[in-house]
Amino acid sequence: MIKYDHIMIRFGELSTKGKNRKDFVRVLYTNIKSALKDWPSLTFDMRYDHIYVSLNEIPYEPVLERLKDVSGIYSLSLVYRCQKDIDLIIESALMLMKEEVGNTFKVKTKRSDKTFPLVSDDITRIVAGHILRNTPSIKVDVHNPEILLSIELRQEAAYIFTHTYLGAGGYPLGVGGKSMHLLSGGIDSPVAAYLMMKRGVSIECIHFASPPYTQMGVIYKLEDLLKKLNRYQPRIRLHIVPFTKIQEAIYDHAPESYCITLMRRMMFRLADALAKKRNCPVISTGESIGQVASQTLQSMHVINAVTNTPIIRPLATTDKVEIIKLSNKIGTYDISIRPYEDCCTIFTPKSPKTMPHLDDVETLEKQFDFDSLIKEALANIEVKIVNGEEEEVLL
Ligand code: ATP
Ligand code: MG
Repeated sequence: MIKYDHIMIRFGELSTKGKNRKDFVRVLYTNIKSALKDWPSLTFDMRYDHIYVSLNEIPYEPVLERLKDVSGIYSLSLVYRCQKDIDLIIESALMLMKEEVGNTFKVKTKRSDKTFPLVSDDITRIVAGHILRNTPSIKVDVHNPEILLSIELRQEAAYIFTHTYLGAGGYPLGVGGKSMHLLSGGIDSPVAAYLMMKRGVSIECIHFASPPYTQMGVIYKLEDLLKKLNRYQPRIRLHIVPFTKIQEAIYDHAPESYCITLMRRMMFRLADALAKKRNCPVISTGESIGQVASQTLQSMHVINAVTNTPIIRPLATTDKVEIIKLSNKIGTYDISIRPYEDCCTIFTPKSPKTMPHLDDVETLEKQFDFDSLIKEALANIEVKIVNGEEEEVLL
């Protein structure tokens, strides 16, 4: 019996990226190696448009599952690698077919190595003929086969495979730069973080905590959420900003209905300052249009007016059902629904403004010295690095 001994990784979207391609592939290669670091005996082979992982007797299932979460991978195939010898290819193809269940099949050959003496059609015919002669009940179906046997002839070897899986798609993490991501303890913001990472953008997180109104439990919750996200980004920096004084000042100086608008403007001011300091050209959030009062278009306009930094809202048009589905998929849902007090929930006014006016907001903000409160908050940020296993605390 022979078995699949390699995983073939395809890049998809990356191939279209012209001269950046080389860098992208290098980043992807590094990310793949880091995602698979738990299996030190795996070996890697980087080629022009594929990366190969040699399994070296490691069972393929967990490796494949891990790779499905690495952004920038378009698809993956479990492959058998053999020398480019037609007799070997024929025999190996037959052996691999014997492991499959199905009544119909089709052979597809791709010959990238143009020096190979047989053309693709010849190889397909020879291999299919051999399978038909040696497998009693099987038939060819070129339109809708139950088993698709692919053969690829490349410079270094021939590859035979019957199973291809979709990867996470997107771009390799890191090629898209870095975003300062607003992480609350809710359902939306971890999902938005995941979508950013999938697009190749790595994140640093900023969280606004208002002790004693918010509890330490929120921080544990955030760490648990980030541990789930470590699957996509192995090391995530979390900045915890003390927000109590700012919040209290807002409630002392503004009518209740305007508090959320002012509070969110302060959040963006803080996020903006930190984004600049940490070299993040953009900010991202879990906002979704219309979900709550602060997320109407008019609110977004007034809140957004504090900064020119682009604010990416990956979930802007996604409805809650879809967001929940995604949060289940990435494993954050059960953590997100743990009860907790968010700084937004404690001071929630009975009727927040859904149509705030910029003039009114600016007048209200003139009534107190928020600049020095912002400076103070920025000077007292606590940083945690969450990297899956233990977490480091930076003082
Ligand atoms: P989520 O489920 O992400 O908490 P939400 O529907 O509760 O979202 P809001 O509370 O209005 O919505 O927050 C919108 C976005 O603002 C969040 O997705 C998050 O990006 C950011 N945000 C809210 N509260 C905080 C906080 N305490 N710290 C950091 N970011 C926050
Ligand atoms: Mg929230």
